[in-house]
Amino acid sequence: MRIEGLRKSFGDNVVLRGIDLDIRRGEVVVILGPSGSGKSTLLRCVNLLETPTDGKIFFEDTEITAKKTDINNVRAKVGMVFQSFNLFPHLTAKANVMLAQQKVLKRSKAEAERVAIEQLEHVGLGDRIDYKPAELSGGQQQRVAIARALAMDPHVMLFDEATSALDPELVRDVLGVMKNLAKGGMTMIVVTHEMGFARDVADRVIFMDGGFIVEQGSPEEVFDHPKSDRTKDFLGHIS
Ligand code: ADP
Ligand code: MG
Repeated sequence: MRIEGLRKSFGDNVVLRGIDLDIRRGEVVVILGPSGSGKSTLLRCVNLLETPTDGKIFFEDTEITAKKTDINNVRAKVGMVFQSFNLFPHLTAKANVMLAQQKVLKRSKAEAERVAIEQLEHVGLGDRIDYKPAELSGGQQQRVAIARALAMDPHVMLFDEATSALDPELVRDVLGVMKNLAKGGMTMIVVTHEMGFARDVADRVIFMDGGFIVEQGSPEEVFDHPKSDRTKDFLGHIS
């Protein structure tokens, strides 16, 4: 993925002020930064949930910011997991994971069901496939949301504070699933405040502030030898 000169404003509010970023296949990039620095807006632009004000995004040789782009095709390849799980409350875990496969990828019911069960097993919920969201813990619901994204065979996964809404004891299971995914070679862009995860799993850590990438490098570089005062200040407050 290549992001070039990405800018995004909401009215007078300039949120992204020129982001340039190349992400290699299989790379795990963790984005850190204070609230309001534009992290979610960046991920939402990558997934075309927001239309950039300026700049280009290329993904596997296509410019996805071009007017002719099939947004559904991009969204299928770019999986996204949010802080809120956004599951359908009246559907079971399995049915939640089947839905977009049938609607967007036009898979048969049998195929969608097979993949749903496989992905739910993959996130450790093989014994919960017929439960509805209200019968699952927050961590289990988030894992259903991850299984739902993975069922679309994404080429990259975006995580926007996927564990921020969870009770501390439930965070570990979700991070464990994300870690396995990373080890399995998935390309990932992860916005998180989980510094342990970033240190362990990230190939590259990016610190954003005020709509800019302030600093980036390996976890060791950014955590142990931050260059910018803003990064030092942020890390000092969080750890
Ligand atoms: P972060 O995820 O780093 O906390 P966000 O990308 O959510 O930051 O937000 C950055 C800024 O963009 C904030 O000032 C926020 O109010 C603004 N913003 C985000 N989404 C919208 C929107 N849909 N409409 C108007 N302003 C928005
Ligand atoms: Mg955010």
